[in-house]
Amino acid sequence: MASVELEQVSKSFGKTEVIKDMSLAIKERELVVFVGPSGCGKSTLLRLIAGLEEMSAGTLRIGGKVMNQTPAADRGVAMVFQSYALYPHMTVAENMGFALKMIGTPKAEIDRKVAEAAEILDLGDLLQRKPRQLSGGQRQRVAIGRAIVRKPDVFLFDEPLSNLDAELRARMRVEIARLHKELKTTMIYVTHDQVEAMTLADRIVLLNKGRIEQQGAPLDLYEAPANRFVAGFLGQPR
Ligand code: ADP
Ligand code: MG
Repeated sequence: MASVELEQVSKSFGKTEVIKDMSLAIKERELVVFVGPSGCGKSTLLRLIAGLEEMSAGTLRIGGKVMNQTPAADRGVAMVFQSYALYPHMTVAENMGFALKMIGTPKAEIDRKVAEAAEILDLGDLLQRKPRQLSGGQRQRVAIGRAIVRKPDVFLFDEPLSNLDAELRARMRVEIARLHKELKTTMIYVTHDQVEAMTLADRIVLLNKGRIEQQGAPLDLYEAPANRFVAGFLGQPR
């Protein structure tokens, strides 16, 4: 677990500034949900934190350490994407252990970490299957497993459930809440699903055009939206 702090962070692609002078402090173990309209900068923000994209200005700290120049692999973060491309020719166990294998982790240690993650995600019976022999929900659990084996301090989720049907989404929502409790890690979770945001978040951060429109506990935003935009997104019409 670690805190994540953004200080006056900006990001431009060419002349277009998509993250604008953003400051935000996320506490250890907090589950923060980013919501906002398509194109408002949610994915870009996650990618900046993950180190998949370079900031144009500002400071990023994870666990109190400045990470501006730190390569993605050394930041202690793991990201789960919406399109969770698993390697089709590898088993579930191999998919989950692949990142560890790449960094030269001994086989016995990989096996142990994969077994641990499989236990947490209830994938123990599926370890020798290939992705095509899994349901959508099981595949998404494998994708989360790939992140868990790396024991990250911070989990980043980018709309991880949006490819699943409503019933599965509801079940996975519960799983993710349980995971957060069990692993005690910091989580930053992007969704466009209002129910997901309201039920999962310790704090919701509503983004609009690269800025923070409003943030707070789910009920506070719901009951006291600062303006029509927030009300339209989460709260009641006023
Ligand atoms: P969201 O995830 O909230 O839908 P994104 O972070 O993906 O939004 O995108 C924010 C804005 O940045 C959009 O206008 C998008 O077109 C632009 N953008 C994202 N990535 C790139 C890129 N690699 N090059 C140019 N523009 C980009
Ligand atoms: Mg996105």
